[in-house]
Amino acid sequence: MTVLEARRAGKDFLVGGTPVAAVREVNLSINAGELVAITGPSGSGKSTLLHLFGGITQPTRGAVLVEGVDLTGLDDDGLARIRRRRIGFVFQRYNLFPEFTLEENVALPLVLDGTPSARAAAAAREALAAVGLTARAGHRPDALSGGEQQRGAIARALISQPAVVLADEPTGALDTANGAIVMDLFRSLAHDRGQTVVLVTHDAGIAASVPRRIAMRDGRVEADGPAGAGP
Ligand code: ADP
Ligand code: MG
Repeated sequence: MTVLEARRAGKDFLVGGTPVAAVREVNLSINAGELVAITGPSGSGKSTLLHLFGGITQPTRGAVLVEGVDLTGLDDDGLARIRRRRIGFVFQRYNLFPEFTLEENVALPLVLDGTPSARAAAAAREALAAVGLTARAGHRPDALSGGEQQRGAIARALISQPAVVLADEPTGALDTANGAIVMDLFRSLAHDRGQTVVLVTHDAGIAASVPRRIAMRDGRVEADGPAGAGP
């Protein structure tokens, strides 16, 4: 089943009043249970493509579909609902709220969706345990290392057991051991639970370890296939 689809999708940003293409034209189809790495040089459009799939930004042209729903046809409420219920997003800069503890940050997607707070807190502790952060649950983000914040952001993205997990360089701040824990977690989400996982990575070892690699260049897909194939 196709879970993510880009149909001639493109995104321009206005830079000093002039449109500049971050994503020129992308056609992609990603199935349920796939684990995909997006690679490419800095500025090639990886984050923008991930934001398009996550409904965080709307395409300038073409369409983006999540589980068959065309995001371009949705209003803000509809988009927010899909983002909250179907998509877990790990931002490149983590985006944890500084005034909340780690546990509160991780519980937030459930709380916002109406889960009773005790149940949300229990789920948050479970998600934190999965990324090795049980001992840090009561800390605020500024008391955490970059790697801990990154793992916290991953726990928050996974807490609602979203059909789609989109992660922007999710191991960028992690040491080798924690990077391996996170990749094992992503592998098991895709393999055992059928969740679709798309991650952006600069790490050649990670890119080579996943079943499918999409290489971006200049806002386009340059290569798409089994890891190890293509540039
Ligand atoms: P990557 O994640 O591959 O490094 P990005 O998707 O972040 O690339 O950016 C692709 C291009 O779009 C870059 O040239 C970048 O400067 C530009 N860009 C991204 N976001 C914005 C924005 N909000 N405003 C203006 N230009 C942007
Ligand atoms: Mg980026």
